[in-house]
Amino acid sequence: MEPKLAERFKKRLLQTREEIIGQLRQRDGSAQEIGQNGIQDIGDESVIIYNRHLLMSLSENERAKLIEVDEALDRIENGSFGMCEECEEPIALKRLEVMPNARYCVRCKEELEKVSEESP
Ligand SMILES: [Zn+2]
Repeated sequence: MEPKLAERFKKRLLQTREEIIGQLRQRDGSAQEIGQNGIQDIGDESVIIYNRHLLMSLSENERAKLIEVDEALDRIENGSFGMCEECEEPIALKRLEVMPNARYCVRCKEELEKVSEESP
């Protein structure tokens, strides 16, 4: 994927991330407090603790979404963004536009869903 394009998806993913965390901050004042204290003397460890607290306060859906967004950001960093994890073919741009955190191309996604429907 072109770096410029990847950069655009990165911005969108970071925006989505901020939205999820922003909603949480509005709901849970204590998360904000911890964030502010943590930032004063921040080491990697406090970031991890902060994130863990954050993750605990999220609903199942929000947490899953946040993890997906983070994974997509990781893939942008390591250059594998936009590639299907199953067949390693590029995922259609249209699909990524709608769902920047997509991990599979349409074909593999359908295959995987078929499998999970068949299993008990
Ligand atoms: Zn695929």
